Amino acid sequence: MSFSTRLLEWYSGHGRSLPWRETRDPYVVWVTEIIFQQTRIDQGMEYFHRFLEAFPDVVRLASAPEDQVLRLWQGLGYYSRARNLHRAAREIVDHRGGKLPDSFSEWMKVPGVGPYTAAAIASIAFNEVVPAVDGNVYRVLARMFALEESTETGKGKKVFHEIASQLISHDDPGSFNQAMMDFGATICKPAAPLCRECIFNYECLALARDDVAHFPVKKTPKPVRNRYFNYFFFFFEDGEGQRKFPVRQRDGKDIWKNLYELPLIETPRETSLEEIVNHPEWKARFPAKADWVLNGPPYSHSHRLTHQLIHAKFFSLRVSREKAFTFTEDFFLVDGKAFELMPKSRLTLLFLQRNI
Ligand code: SF4
Repeated sequence: MSFSTRLLEWYSGHGRSLPWRETRDPYVVWVTEIIFQQTRIDQGMEYFHRFLEAFPDVVRLASAPEDQVLRLWQGLGYYSRARNLHRAAREIVDHRGGKLPDSFSEWMKVPGVGPYTAAAIASIAFNEVVPAVDGNVYRVLARMFALEESTETGKGKKVFHEIASQLISHDDPGSFNQAMMDFGATICKPAAPLCRECIFNYECLALARDDVAHFPVKKTPKPVRNRYFNYFFFFFEDGEGQRKFPVRQRDGKDIWKNLYELPLIETPRETSLEEIVNHPEWKARFPAKADWVLNGPPYSHSHRLTHQLIHAKFFSLRVSREKAFTFTEDFFLVDGKAFELMPKSRLTLLFLQRNI
């Protein structure tokens, strides 16, 4: 019996029951694939339901303001996924009359869609025979065939893709791709794979060599970049006791583009408030020391991104109503309720939950 037949047999009895598997609607498959990139199923499930409830089709997504899309994405991370999804929806509506692409090559032209996502959509929604090769698939193939190629090089990716192309089912490529994902996620897991239960344990070369942990071969990991973010919660209370404070929308090419945040100064190392107030950026933008009062110790939190570790400190500073209006033009004043509706990083959210 061929590899794909055995895998599909296993999948029919052991595949995960997931809501998006009940449809072949390319829009749902697309949204699902984008949400679950670098996101665990349990983490992303609520977002999946909320997103499709708010934007059940590409036209509704295209007509939504970006802030609404980012707000629904809040906490999921990798916000470029949401921005690209939204931009792509607008392009599909503007240039294709809302008709979604129907092939791998057409999906590859869509912003934010790479080979894996294009293959997943083309195979699941349109039955195109093209393998969707992600981390799960790399791991299964690397172990099954004891492949020494790194999955992180162009040459290595080509080798894995060719093997997957030979193995894929021509009758049901969509189920084959989903079966590979499930098999990698539940049996041939990154740590402690279930080799005893594995339907391929007689053929698996890594197991035969008793060297499963060696595969897949990784390059030296990219070093983590430490960054030091000093946020300032300049607040005053209005006549009704509501705290008001300045925020701005992030721009540029850095992380969290278009999300909203408190005034920020990034420093090359951990820095005290006394040092920061002498920082030229502070002097150019923020109120002089005589115009605010420190309101308790700073809130510190470390936030890990893929290749960055953000060491954040939030300083609460009470200012007078007049001084709160002296910020440079890109800031505007909000209260807690208004800020709640704006998209922001999980880091900022954690601080605000404690302070508003
Ligand atoms: S035998 Fe173990 S390592 Fe080999 S494919 Fe099966 S689960 Fe993976």
